[in-house]
Amino acid sequence: MKILSVNAGSSSLKFQLFEMPEEEVLISGNFERIGIDGSFYTIKLDGDKIKKEINLPDHKVAFEILVKELIDNKIVSSLEEIKGIGHRVVQGGSYFDKTEIVTEDIISKIDELSALAPLHNPAAIVGIKAAHEVFKNAVNTVVFDTAFHQTMEEEVYLYALPYEWAKDYKIRRYGAHGTSHKYIADRMNEILGKTDTKLITCHIGNGASISAVKNGICINTSMGLTPNAGLIMGSRCGDIDATIVPYIMDKLKLSTKEIDNILNKQSGLLGISGVSSDSRDIEEGISKGNDRCILARKMYVRRIIDYIAKYYVELGGCDAIIFTAGVGENSKETRKAVIDGLEVLGIKIDEERNKVRGEEVKISSDDSKVLVYVIPTNEELMIARDTYNLAK
Ligand code: AMP
Repeated sequence: MKILSVNAGSSSLKFQLFEMPEEEVLISGNFERIGIDGSFYTIKLDGDKIKKEINLPDHKVAFEILVKELIDNKIVSSLEEIKGIGHRVVQGGSYFDKTEIVTEDIISKIDELSALAPLHNPAAIVGIKAAHEVFKNAVNTVVFDTAFHQTMEEEVYLYALPYEWAKDYKIRRYGAHGTSHKYIADRMNEILGKTDTKLITCHIGNGASISAVKNGICINTSMGLTPNAGLIMGSRCGDIDATIVPYIMDKLKLSTKEIDNILNKQSGLLGISGVSSDSRDIEEGISKGNDRCILARKMYVRRIIDYIAKYYVELGGCDAIIFTAGVGENSKETRKAVIDGLEVLGIKIDEERNKVRGEEVKISSDDSKVLVYVIPTNEELMIARDTYNLAK
């Protein structure tokens, strides 16, 4: 059965087509600058990457072009062969703890939650509606980034704010990257050959979060109401003293939009280093002795260590720590600095094994008290699995 995994942004549409249950990727690609001048798309097929410049006024046209490409490349003979389409949705609030088949009511709930994910939820709705118009007979599903974290207890997900705010304004912790945390936790359990495990999953990319996963269930995660909580990220500040916000707004006469922009787009590694939000640039700065890059890296690593240590205690020990996403999969320096900071717990890295990039591998030493792994994430496959299970 062919299942399409879709991640719609406001001006982009990423896709992967899977043959399920074999989990084989048949074709993947990305439509970019939808509704903007200079639109184009790229397609990966049989190891080749093709780029085509074409007018993409909206997401529906992107799907229509996708269908044409699938037929021209003989991947399908008609669009009826695509039985399911799984859509990534960033914010599912408290409504959704699992993947669902799309209904009108679900779309209106995703829309209602747009205030909590203004860049993402409206784009997902556009993607769902466009897919529905083009693939009339396919089952459309929605896979929520927040769903995996819905198992957190009230004492964990509430903020110590007026209690009514959680009900009246939906202010609580939801977490993010749930599809990725679930994927690597499930994969780690597969490797360990059991499900009664205590895992700390570290999704360290441009956005970054850490989860504590007990027996396959999320008990805590570092992101909050929005994806700007917890770890220091590329350009997001993560945890800060909340009172800084009114204080600096007053001092610099900032609007809510301006402060939001600074906290999300000008802070984190970028804010401290003054150089870049990309950890590769920070590493280059460090190699040249740039003091602020060195400081930014120290703060970044310290925060990751803090969260792992906190979750180690909360889980009552840990079987494995797993690194994934852009930095987690690629930066041996970050992984080493984090694991070195956990030495007091008997966690040790094997520097030879750690010389790995984007591969599934154990990087802890044989005498480490906790296993440490790199497991490349695969959110698209998770989306395809859930969608296949609902469409078959
Ligand atoms: P993601 O959000 O998972 O796509 O991760 C993107 C981030 O991964 C980039 O902004 C980089 O900071 C980081 N990254 C990618 N490749 C490397 C690398 N080779 N070394 C260090 N960081 C990397």
